[in-house]
Amino acid sequence: AAPIVVVGAGLAGLRTAEELRRAGYEGGLILIGDEARLPYDRPPLSKQFVRGETDDTTLRPAEFFADKGIELRLDTAATGVDTAARRIALADGSELEYAQLVIATGLRPRRLPGLPDLAGVHVLRAYAEADALRDELADATRALVVGAGFIGCELAASFRASGVEVVLVEPQPTPLAGVLGPQVGALIARMHRAEGVDLRCDTGLDTLLGEGGRVRVARLSDGSEVPADLVVIGVGSRPATDWLTESGIPLADPAAGGGVLADEVGRTAVGGVWAVGDVAAWLHDTGVRKRVEHWTSAGEQARLVACALMGAEPPTMARVPYFWSDQYDVKIQALGTPAATDAVTIAADDGRRFLAYYARDGRLTGVVGAGMTAQVMKARAKIAAGAELTEVLTPS
Ligand code: FAD
Repeated sequence: AAPIVVVGAGLAGLRTAEELRRAGYEGGLILIGDEARLPYDRPPLSKQFVRGETDDTTLRPAEFFADKGIELRLDTAATGVDTAARRIALADGSELEYAQLVIATGLRPRRLPGLPDLAGVHVLRAYAEADALRDELADATRALVVGAGFIGCELAASFRASGVEVVLVEPQPTPLAGVLGPQVGALIARMHRAEGVDLRCDTGLDTLLGEGGRVRVARLSDGSEVPADLVVIGVGSRPATDWLTESGIPLADPAAGGGVLADEVGRTAVGGVWAVGDVAAWLHDTGVRKRVEHWTSAGEQARLVACALMGAEPPTMARVPYFWSDQYDVKIQALGTPAATDAVTIAADDGRRFLAYYARDGRLTGVVGAGMTAQVMKARAKIAAGAELTEVLTPS
């Protein structure tokens, strides 16, 4: 019989293969990835790895795959799918038959159009990109980080820890404004400024100027010039769905974030095709299909999709989403679905660590803390229960 084929050997793809074996699947199982490395963890890339504190973020050793009967095909890109014939086209021109296909191809970093091609300019998603960035960080003195999202903020923190001057440029009024809103964004801005980051908001990158093929100066849209020998473009990512455009598998509108449209267990509208992880626009409790770009969610989705593939009951799981980001000595953690448009109440703030509750129509939607792990975790049950905001502000 044809195997289950998982395309994308990142966290979501690996976990899906593992969960299938755990759920008792004994048939053929192939995990395809276009990178040459064994599946690895990405969160350390912008943190310990780029600072030189760790080299190896491999998730499982090679023997693991042999043990579990997972056929790992690295350095192999899928280039197309024929869903009627249930065949995947590979970059070397060969084809692979599948009984079930799981799409787990993640994201590709966005680049800014129109920039000159200069050495010293980086994006960060893959190990190879982190490796190139780390090499150059050793000799850098002035870095420019374009975009104060999670990866931009983490890199700014890692660069400061490495003794590099940092200018962090953000078109919005604060870092992370689009995700966490301007009030919490202002607290994060304060932390970066206290660490010596030259944070410039409400402005973007206009162009880069080089010398001898290497970046030297960045011109910002406010007309100012910033000397920089290292530049990172951290302006977000887009789903790696180019290989699916001719497949007929329904994709979300790119303007709404794109991705492979799937139901609440990862099933697409096409028979035998599933999607998990950052690339997958799953149906959420709110009735909205959207992608979630966080580590914990990739693992949870892998479990659900594996159960659904086996025709088993979905496991009961914590329905409260979680993510974290490490910046300097502070762990920023979020539970629930905090949104930039929610009403935000800052419940604690000691000048660096803080706790913020998010509410919609008076009901608690989420909590975001910096250096406040215990307080964040305490809100879990209240968020799950859709408690009134007043219940957490005046605990009984
Ligand atoms: P990926 O990990 O991107 O894996 C997809 C894989 O598919 C890649 O190897 C890709 O090369 C491959 N692929 C793509 N197209 C093809 C193709 N056509 N054929 C074959 N293979 C293909 N989340 C948190 O919650 N907290 C954090 O602190 C945090 N830090 C992060 C730091 C960095 C630098 C990055 C990049 C991400 C971070 N994340 C964090 C997010 C988290 O790592 C992702 O949610 C997670 O990696 C998603 O896993 P995935 O398998 O869906 O996608």
